[in-house]
Amino acid sequence: MSASAPAKINLHLGVGPVRADGFHPLATVYQAIGLLDEVTVRHAPANDVTVTGQRRLDLDEIPLDARNAAVRAAMLLAERNGVEEQVAIHIDKQIPVAGGMAGGSADAAAALVACDALWGLSSPREELLELAAELGSDVPFALVGGTAIATGRGESVVPAMVLGEYWWVVVESADGLSTPAVYHEFDTVYAGQRVSQPDLPDALMEALRSHDLERLGVLLRNDLEEPAIRLRPELDDVLAGGIAAGALGALLSGSGPTCVFLCSSRTHAEQVSTVLSEGEPGAVCVVRGPVPGARVERMG
Ligand code: ATP
Repeated sequence: MSASAPAKINLHLGVGPVRADGFHPLATVYQAIGLLDEVTVRHAPANDVTVTGQRRLDLDEIPLDARNAAVRAAMLLAERNGVEEQVAIHIDKQIPVAGGMAGGSADAAAALVACDALWGLSSPREELLELAAELGSDVPFALVGGTAIATGRGESVVPAMVLGEYWWVVVESADGLSTPAVYHEFDTVYAGQRVSQPDLPDALMEALRSHDLERLGVLLRNDLEEPAIRLRPELDDVLAGGIAAGALGALLSGSGPTCVFLCSSRTHAEQVSTVLSEGEPGAVCVVRGPVPGARVERMG
């Protein structure tokens, strides 16, 4: 049984002041893009997990034990449903590892729907969404897909009204960035300053409803961009390079270091991608959003 799940980008990532429990309240607009991981699950005599990937990926970073996001998802689903069968999980990755695109969360969401089908559970959608929220704040969106807004820790996701399709150029980095390190840097940047509670962006939502790409390009915003650039100054050059190549907008994806660039069409995205690919073979691709969330692709 195979299921795929998409990478996410945050068209808006508003980050509020750190709470006593260490979390930062968020107000975010997600979009699922056509960069997918595929998770295949099989009945097996013992639990097992393997990972492959053709792109420039740091597969060594991915734990092959109960810390793996897909394994955690399978174990949680089994435990809640009294399933005692063992499962072999194979993850074929396209989503950059530690790239700010929630690849681990995508694998968790794909494992949930794949194991649900393998074990014939037919869990109600609401139940899968509850398990997803327990697994991590980006997992519910990986199930829902499309374009959606989320607040708090990102766990309750509301689909958004969006017109048309959006073409993005994705530029990967050779090395990932740790999400906790970027949030820590955010706290350092704003130490002693008053950080306001994050708001959902009305103007950006209107640009999405009317498919106003020029306007959307200038409204893209990520509060983690500045701290990520402080940790990785060369990201500033990557972002500027995309705008110089003609993109309508440039954005760090989540906590980075992947950068994404909004273009007006597939052809435009391919032109921008060609410019950005010079000297960076294999690290640049063109994708469309929004795409659906995790779903079973193949049975048997
Ligand atoms: P975050 O979800 O924290 O924003 P990210 O999107 O930047 O992270 P991920 O690719 O999800 O990055 O990986 C973050 C870390 O999670 C990895 O460095 C790895 O140690 C761990 N991890 C666990 N399971 C997986 C998985 N299936 N795929 C990728 N990373 C995984």
